Amino acid sequence: MRTVYLNGDYVPENEANVSIFDRGFLFADGVYEVTTVVDGKLIGFDGHIERLQRSLNELKINYKVNREELLTVHRELVARNNIDQGMIYLQMTRGNPGDRDFAFPPEDTPLTVVLFTQEKQIIGTSIETKGLKVVSVDDLRWGRRDIKTVQLLFPSLAKMEAKEKGADDAWLMQDGYVTEGTSNNAYIVKDGKIITRDLSNDILHGITRKSVLACAKLLQMEVEERPFTIEEAYAADEAFATSASGFTNPIVEIDGNKVGTGKPGPVGDRLRALYIAENMKAAI
Ligand code: PMP
Repeated sequence: MRTVYLNGDYVPENEANVSIFDRGFLFADGVYEVTTVVDGKLIGFDGHIERLQRSLNELKINYKVNREELLTVHRELVARNNIDQGMIYLQMTRGNPGDRDFAFPPEDTPLTVVLFTQEKQIIGTSIETKGLKVVSVDDLRWGRRDIKTVQLLFPSLAKMEAKEKGADDAWLMQDGYVTEGTSNNAYIVKDGKIITRDLSNDILHGITRKSVLACAKLLQMEVEERPFTIEEAYAADEAFATSASGFTNPIVEIDGNKVGTGKPGPVGDRLRALYIAENMKAAI
């Protein structure tokens, strides 16, 4: 049984209880982060902490994130659960006001803070060689996708729609342009140029995206940050997606159309290799 963290305590998972009045449960009033673990070390930790603080600020949750304290909790959970490869999920909600009310509770209401581990093979999965299939689905999420809230019902529905169609994931579409995947950022490659949507409220500002674009720069690859259409994606030479736990994942089919050769492409492969090398060096 896993040991999880709840509001200052390390407890067995079946003893971690949260109130039915918790704002996270009633209003999806909370934010989260997922940090990847490889060789028992944390990848991109500081980026996740920075984004966590930003998400809290954007929701007007008055809380100053303590990096050192959270680093200790992350490391403690890795150690107690003996995690070699996997993820640490962290969630903070606006807490438990003791009743249901749309108005925020007083600012001194303690947040609910939950962290738990998930074991998952990160390096050397079959996705690296086989790639993923995606289908396009209208993006019906709210307008602040830059905030990493736990309001994930639409991405979950879109993921299930993709699975029902025999695909692995959905690429979400707004006005004919791809925003991102259900839980990853989306990229195409055309004539050697990497194209990915520019940062705005339309997409999550991926920690992996930032690192992968820095890797592209190191490799002197050309990058264009702009929205791309689904038709451009069909005609791309290759496509891939990035996320903390997937690194870069090749996309080999979009809406039944083979992307390029229908196999993982060289640009994505090179970026993945450099991303892993750079981030393993910097892992803590
Ligand atoms: N977009 C969405 C909607 C996501 O949920 C995620 C995963 N958290 C990402 C992009 C990728 O972000 P990151 O690289 O920080 O995991």
